[in-house]
Amino acid sequence: MSISIAFIGLGAMGYRMASHLPKSFEQVLVWNRNFAKAEQHASEYSTQAVDIETATQADIIFSCLPTSVEVEAIITQYPPKSGAIWVDCTSGVPESAVKMAKFLQEHGAYFLDAPVSGQTIGAEKGTLTVMIGGDTKAFEQAYSAIEPFGGLIKHVGDSGAGFAVKAVNNMLLAANLWATAEGFTTLKANGVDLNNALECINASSGKSAVTEMVLPQRILNREFPLTFALPLLAKDTGIAISLAQQAKLPTPLLSLTQNLIQTANLTSDAESDFSSAVKLYESWTNIKIE
Ligand code: NDP
Repeated sequence: MSISIAFIGLGAMGYRMASHLPKSFEQVLVWNRNFAKAEQHASEYSTQAVDIETATQADIIFSCLPTSVEVEAIITQYPPKSGAIWVDCTSGVPESAVKMAKFLQEHGAYFLDAPVSGQTIGAEKGTLTVMIGGDTKAFEQAYSAIEPFGGLIKHVGDSGAGFAVKAVNNMLLAANLWATAEGFTTLKANGVDLNNALECINASSGKSAVTEMVLPQRILNREFPLTFALPLLAKDTGIAISLAQQAKLPTPLLSLTQNLIQTANLTSDAESDFSSAVKLYESWTNIKIE
């Protein structure tokens, strides 16, 4: 297709997501703060490393940055052209999506909040779940550009709805992570073999993405590979709690989960994988989940 696509933010997710775009589009521009990564991407995937001024003038612009703060800074400094669609794959703040959609509307452009789920492996395979908030016509127009890295691509509501779904999803991940740590420590303290227990639970009603993937692939093997940083999970639980507070809802379990994840984050190295939050619980019990 002859429209130009740009991808801003070639981190753990963005680098892999952008790698699928040249299969469907002739012109794929990439920009990254550490520009060497953009140049490496260009040589690896036949994309084009460009400056930020050029990237932000594409027809469809993707961004995948740590938080809405970095996204807002770029959009307000380098607003896209009229008719452009900005698809923000950051796990961001719903209020910011509403603000950016309004700001871009003043420039005749569109903002879609389009966070993703599926981790770096899903980004690599092009099977990410993409949950999208914003203008439906812009969603329909951007769909074919999202497809190369998307599995389930779903419009979930107005601006901010995509970010809201993502924040709640990650809150549920965090709650499962902590509950799994307590549950498996209880089993170990009672002399049960954790691998046998895991096999039974993964064939039973207590299973989750944490027991099916995170526990065996990151925790039991003590690898804790850094693919999704703990500060990013802490950020997501904070977004979910803010949403509940704005709706004046009681959230005893989710608030506790957020406190635990924040504490784990504050007591961990910034370069820790999210799964290493369980190390805080291990330090309380002196029992390793292995
Ligand atoms: P990374 O930390 O790996 O990458 C962050 C990217 O943002 C890098 O390209 C970095 O550039 C860039 N960046 C950071 N600060 C700035 C800035 N001030 N100005 C411009 N660029 C900046 O993060 P991830 O790829 O892991 O995560 C990105 C988003 O996706 C987050 O919102 C995260 O919550 C979400 N997410 C992550 C998943 C995962 O498994 N990792 C899964 C699903 C969602 P530089 O290279 O120069 O540092």
